[in-house]
Amino acid sequence: MASFSSIIDGTRLAAGNLADFATGLVSPSLRLGVTGLSRAGKTVFITAVVNALLKGGRFPAFEALSGGRITRCYLEPQPDDTLPRFEFESHANALSGDNRHWPESTRRISQLRITVEYVPSGLLARTLGGGRLHIDIVDYPGEWLLDLPLLRTSYAEWSAATVRASRSAPRRAHAAAWHDMLAALAPSMPADEAMAIKAAGLFTAYLARCRADDVALSSLPPGRFLMPGDYQGSPLLAFAPLDIAPDAVLQKGTLGALMERRYQSYVATIVKPFFFDHFARLDRQVILVDALSALNAGAFAVRDLEQTLTAILACFRQGANSPLSALFGRRIDRVLFAATKADLLHHTSHDRLENILRLLVAQAMDRASCQGAGIDVAALSAIRATREARVRQKGETLDCIAGIPLGGETIGETYFDGHTEAAVFPGDLPKDANKALDGSLEGKLRFLRFRPPAARDGAWPHIRLDRTLEFLLGDRFK
Ligand code: GDP
Repeated sequence: MASFSSIIDGTRLAAGNLADFATGLVSPSLRLGVTGLSRAGKTVFITAVVNALLKGGRFPAFEALSGGRITRCYLEPQPDDTLPRFEFESHANALSGDNRHWPESTRRISQLRITVEYVPSGLLARTLGGGRLHIDIVDYPGEWLLDLPLLRTSYAEWSAATVRASRSAPRRAHAAAWHDMLAALAPSMPADEAMAIKAAGLFTAYLARCRADDVALSSLPPGRFLMPGDYQGSPLLAFAPLDIAPDAVLQKGTLGALMERRYQSYVATIVKPFFFDHFARLDRQVILVDALSALNAGAFAVRDLEQTLTAILACFRQGANSPLSALFGRRIDRVLFAATKADLLHHTSHDRLENILRLLVAQAMDRASCQGAGIDVAALSAIRATREARVRQKGETLDCIAGIPLGGETIGETYFDGHTEAAVFPGDLPKDANKALDGSLEGKLRFLRFRPPAARDGAWPHIRLDRTLEFLLGDRFK
């Protein structure tokens, strides 16, 4: 297997970074990647961040904003003409008014440029005049990030690993239909398009099942099978693993060779351009994690999440962000892992959630040997849909959360109509983070989807979004 550095196309990277670097000399810019698996909270997070910068709100720990040093913020046309724009206005509209609802989730990559004018905090910088920073927020599905290891994996290696994983619990239980077909497919059969399409369909259904709430697995490449973006129905996605050895050699004209060619095209046409054109140009990265769903689904889901975080960390190349390193593509200097939807827990569990994620990431860091980039962990709610309430039940006082559950949500026999407020005991996270990793929380947490809150003076309530902004952007306003 080749290492990441050996597959880096140095010239291409240097050219892309040189262009960014030259633009950065005129007016400094920061490319902030926001990723996370489907429904982790990317759209809500970006909408809340942009809204905070444009409209302000209560953000005490984000010093540039709370200290009044941010003097003006506005959206500008984005620099990359080939990328769709992040639809901030329609997402903010969805979250506003009496008919407010959660916006449509991320399905493909998009971008938004916000320009911030500020008074620098340093005396020297202040004497030199006001500062201006372009922040380019790039939103992309985390499923695509998890494809990056495919750059150094052959079709036979990927096939063998994927089939092996699908034969162990809990995946095996969801693979029956695809396994039946797999057993009937010999790699030496003549190439057959219809067969390849059928196998891809069954394989995709298996991946989707593993991703469902009750299984909640994270690491399910190839990412475009679950999150196809503009490749829905494309022949590039018409392949599937075969039951072969990692060093198998596939003969021309066979089904095996057809699958292998498609896999190689997928890597060359989809994964590689994503790496060079988008991922390798980021300066900072937030990875949003729906840790609560994994904890609720059980030990397998948590272990799988940990492996996923390890794979993600391995994607970040070492190195701090100096002008020289920017030229050579070593640019990501800050990475934040953030557990979202902390408002689904009482505040007494927020630090615990952060500690659990810290433990998962620490274990991942040991393996990924990721030096250089500053890595931090947070538990946050970008838009807080609940408040807190104490409820007495059977002589016991419970720390609950209250809000309006979305219509159709249920707890046991109770059905919510979408208008009535309810107080719910969501469960507690353990004080000792290690306890959360052994599956002992399985089925013990109770999460409902709540209606988004009304904005006050244009700002939504949040949990710890200010700390997050301070970590991601604070130093750039010094
Ligand atoms: P994406 O697929 O990563 O873009 O996920 P979204 O941002 O669309 O979020 C998916 C869903 O998670 C939303 O529709 C909300 O129901 C929920 N959600 C996201 N962020 C929050 C939050 O801060 N609090 C609560 N209570 N729910 C959230």
